[in-house]
Amino acid sequence: MRLSRYFLPVLKENPAEAQIVSHRLMLRAGMIKQAQAGIYSWLPLGFKVLRKLENIVHEEQIRAGHIPMLMPTLQSADLWRKSGRYDAYGPEMLRITDRHDREMLFGPTNEEMITDIVANYVTSYKALPLTLYHVQWKFRDEVRPRFGVMRGREFLMKDGYNFDLTKEDALHAYNRHLVSYLRTYERMGLQAIPMRADSGPIGGDYTHEFLVLADTGESEVFYDSAITDLSFGDRMIDYDDHAQCQAVLEEFTSRYARTDETHDEAVFNEIPEERRRVARGIEVGQIFYFGTEYSEKLGAMVQGEDGQRVPLHMGSHGIGVSRLIGAIIEASHDDKGIIWPEGVTPFHCGIVNLKQGDDEADAACDKLYAALTALGLEPLYDDRSERAGGKFATMDLIGLPWRITVGPRGLKNGVVELTSRKTGESVELSPEEAVRKVA
Ligand code: ATP
Ligand code: MG
Ligand code: MG
Ligand code: MG
Repeated sequence: MRLSRYFLPVLKENPAEAQIVSHRLMLRAGMIKQAQAGIYSWLPLGFKVLRKLENIVHEEQIRAGHIPMLMPTLQSADLWRKSGRYDAYGPEMLRITDRHDREMLFGPTNEEMITDIVANYVTSYKALPLTLYHVQWKFRDEVRPRFGVMRGREFLMKDGYNFDLTKEDALHAYNRHLVSYLRTYERMGLQAIPMRADSGPIGGDYTHEFLVLADTGESEVFYDSAITDLSFGDRMIDYDDHAQCQAVLEEFTSRYARTDETHDEAVFNEIPEERRRVARGIEVGQIFYFGTEYSEKLGAMVQGEDGQRVPLHMGSHGIGVSRLIGAIIEASHDDKGIIWPEGVTPFHCGIVNLKQGDDEADAACDKLYAALTALGLEPLYDDRSERAGGKFATMDLIGLPWRITVGPRGLKNGVVELTSRKTGESVELSPEEAVRKVA
């Protein structure tokens, strides 16, 4: 992409309404524009990152054997009356009436709808196990929408639902989700720690929230610092192997890590003092096993091997896709701007032409652009007639991992400058070598 033809409305000034750094940088980098409180337009740069995250989520869900689909954003009130949640959900639910006075709502989550679908089509245990998911916009009329996309009212969520014959199978689905989430967050360059959370009115011990540690996080968390040494890495996993998935769960939940709702001071105090941590975190996902509650209410029953009709064991599992962008920026920035991890960067590399209009410099930039593109990479070429300082500031603000700077002086010696956004280090190389380093 040539910057002269792109739409990147960067702001020079710090927007007054932004209280935290990720919100500030997303506005300044021209990624989002607020439409109403907690509702945003995704401008091209923000949209690009959003799509990258969504793709990672899809790849990891499909790898785990989960099946993508898409349910609508608008749902009928009647479906929610069946589960008893239409009234229970309260003012966070946006309720709408159509021209025929039918009551509808903008979905805050999809347990009812997916259970209704499964109830309609699945009649035998032979169709199980089954995990369906979608990535769809949700609406929750949050009392205090704030921190940009972190706590929006309209936000993008991946929500998945498992349907199993037995509790044991459903707990395997739970473990499978835990593993796939660990992989997902790591690919985004994030450490998200599974923490024991509160299962709310449904009860049971089976829920974990995934938290990214950050001072600006809204949750208070308590953990044993040894947990931050764990990483999933590139190990191979057979998602059908119950024991393997269980072992990962045990490993990643073997250390004390809890949100304030489940925090137990006595247990916490058994950890050696130098490893006790009280901090703040951003909830970027949650997994849940809740048994047969929805299946019973919405009639998701199958005939088991013995011919008896039994309700399905279910769980639901969510990832806050749009919130993750805020979390990534909170975890990865400096005073000049964003520093994108390689896996999610909107463009792989920036090209800065120090003397736009100079035949040699223009030709060298065009050549670099073509070479990077031929390798399947996406460069962002700043081909505007601006001063170098302004171009550098924009590149630093939008945080691409690499910048190649091209100018007549370097070209005389056959070199360009390659700069790492993360370390700030620059080296002079031939254009060919620079391309090789970026790729
Ligand atoms: P929170 O405690 O932050 O209100 P939640 O527990 O209500 O979140 P879940 O129902 O668990 O949210 O939804 C799954 C994921 O969706 C959350 O882990 C979070 O990452 C994301 N999410 C929830 N609410 C919002 C929101 N208002 N804006 C952006 N993302 C959200
Ligand atoms: Mg909430
Ligand atoms: Mg929560
Ligand atoms: Mg939650």
